[in-house]
Amino acid sequence: MTSTIAHYMNGQAYASASGRQQDVFNPATGEVTGSVALASIEEVHAVIAAAKAAAPAWAETAPLKRARVMFKFKELLDQHHKEMATLITREHGKVLSDAMGEVTRGIEIVEFACGMPQLLKSQFSDNIGGGIDNYNLRQPLGVTAGITPFNFPFMVPMWMAPLAIATGNTFILKPSERDPSCSLLIADLLKKAGLPDGVFNVVQGDKVAVDALLQHPDVSAISFVGSTPIAEYIYSEGTRMGKRVQALGGAKNHLVVMPDANLEQAVDALMGAAYGSAGERCMAISVAVAVGNVADKLVEALVPRVQALKIKNGMESDAEMGPVVTAQHKEKIESYIAEGIAEGAQLLVDGRGLKVPGHESGFFLGGCLFDHVKEGMKIHREEIFGPVLCVVRVPDFASAVELINRHEFGNGVSLFTSDGNTAREFSRRIQVGMVGINVPIPVPMAWHSFGGWKRSLFGDVHAYGEEGIRFYTRYKSIMQRWPDSIDKGAEFTMPVAK
Ligand code: NAD
Repeated sequence: MTSTIAHYMNGQAYASASGRQQDVFNPATGEVTGSVALASIEEVHAVIAAAKAAAPAWAETAPLKRARVMFKFKELLDQHHKEMATLITREHGKVLSDAMGEVTRGIEIVEFACGMPQLLKSQFSDNIGGGIDNYNLRQPLGVTAGITPFNFPFMVPMWMAPLAIATGNTFILKPSERDPSCSLLIADLLKKAGLPDGVFNVVQGDKVAVDALLQHPDVSAISFVGSTPIAEYIYSEGTRMGKRVQALGGAKNHLVVMPDANLEQAVDALMGAAYGSAGERCMAISVAVAVGNVADKLVEALVPRVQALKIKNGMESDAEMGPVVTAQHKEKIESYIAEGIAEGAQLLVDGRGLKVPGHESGFFLGGCLFDHVKEGMKIHREEIFGPVLCVVRVPDFASAVELINRHEFGNGVSLFTSDGNTAREFSRRIQVGMVGINVPIPVPMAWHSFGGWKRSLFGDVHAYGEEGIRFYTRYKSIMQRWPDSIDKGAEFTMPVAK
């Protein structure tokens, strides 16, 4: 039996009347498990109106009371941790333990948002002159929206909604149409946590819904996470409409293996970072940069490990890698593999044609490993977003840094070395937003901020952490004095401290 995945507005789910919908699949079985509504422009306008109506009262609610909703939400998320993770695995395909980790990383942002009264505390300068004090406020923007990708259907909405809400905004989530179900469980738990109706809303949909959010003057800010062409579009359209926009895009993340690295640790790191979640992570490592004489040893160690990956339905407890998200995405990855071979890279492990017993209709693809990949090949230039690792051989450290700095993306990067000076030089010279030193996937914690450089992020501020709070609030500076300290007479010169 399939379910219909609806919109959520004013504290309740409601069926769409648009007449447009799209199938949702279980990628492990290939079966249709549901049908997601695709909103009409009018439906998006109704959700924006609901969020606008709820905004003034929520903005006036004391930060401590808003934070208490976050505390309760966190408690409910803890209780529903496995339920949320199961929804993720069922629609995305990643293995359950990985989905459990995704939920944990999302909850950490909620925990950060619980500290909002402290985080919103303003600065105050007493007596800047003439009995005047100067202080600042950070005030909410009003209606904000988040447009999210398929690969983290819980965590990425958590990069946005808890901070938007705890800073006093109302929020509209437009989740990926490929795995939309988490959005409704989030809405349900927020309501149970005591969030007033209209503060958190969900509009299911595609480009029609996104464009309606972009065009509407009542939406003050848009956070986007997804592929680079769409991120660029959202940024240019949103800013043209006078909105605040942060738009996080795609990636091609390199992991540099120095000759002095602990090879065993580097191989373990590459396996998890390249093939975890079937490579469908914006922080996945898709290029191993082998420096100097390390390449042959590295490739020799990688081949049997890639061949031995346990690829199964993500609900099976020993699965290391699940299917990719859709049949179309699988075809796209396979076309990149064909392109890599045509361009002269050596395919050492070919995962195409993999059949998982009992799951013959699932969207499975085995791990793939390319050696002798050259800069400029399509498989090095573009994001494949699948279980495909490319090995690029470079003569020295400087060539590794230059190779990475020339790439159009700058999301994450990693270096494996045992030399402190090399690590320090790398951290300072690399043109990438998030850097790991002997850490393969350097996703910053909730109280730091997440974001790439170059064409991996359009906008000025990164997601969550203090940058997230800046994004969702408007800065106001106030100067005050009271009658006793006001001098007599008009002043026609620039005011200066007295
Ligand atoms: P996507 O760009 O296809 O979709 C993202 C969102 O945009 C979805 O909600 C989708 O409905 C909407 N959308 C798609 N096409 C649109 C269009 N033409 N006009 C308006 N809206 C549109 O991305 P995806 O395939 O869901 O996710 C994978 C991508 O996201 C990868 O490129 C990955 O690197 C990136 N990503 C980046 C980060 C980051 O932090 N930088 C994090 C996660 C994922």
